[in-house]
Amino acid sequence: MTYVVAEPCIGTKDRSCVEVCPVDCFYDYASEDLNKKVEKEPAMAGDHGMLVIHPDECIHCGACEPECPVEAIFEDDDVPEQWTEYTELNATISEGYSDEELDANRVTSKG
Ligand code: SF4
Ligand code: SF4
Repeated sequence: MTYVVAEPCIGTKDRSCVEVCPVDCFYDYASEDLNKKVEKEPAMAGDHGMLVIHPDECIHCGACEPECPVEAIFEDDDVPEQWTEYTELNATISEGYSDEELDANRVTSKG
C-alpha cells in the first residue's frame, strides 16, 4: 500500500506535502512533457512536472493527503479512474532512479 500523486500536481507542485512526510519519500519528476500533456504552465517558472511518491518508502501514514491544495494525493486503492495511470507513473519514475538520482531528486522540507 502506498499513496500516489496524480495529475493535479502538474502546474501546482507547491511542495506542501513534503513538509509533513516523515520519511522523505517524495521525488521530483521534472518533465516538461507532463505540462504539455495537460496544457498547464508551471506555477513557478521553469519548475516543470510533478512530484512522485516512492511506493517502497511510503509508510502509508496519510499525513500528506490533506495538505495538498489541489487534492492530487490519493491512496493507491482510491485513485480516481481518470488518473489510474499515475499509480504506475509514481512507481516507474521513483523505482527507475539510480541511488544517485534518488539523492538528487529527493524533495524534503529541508530543501
Ligand atoms: S502538495 Fe500536492 S500539488 Fe503540492 S507538490 Fe505535493 S502533491 Fe503536488
Ligand atoms: S502517506 Fe505518509 S509516508 Fe507516504 S508520502 Fe504521504 S506523508 Fe509520506
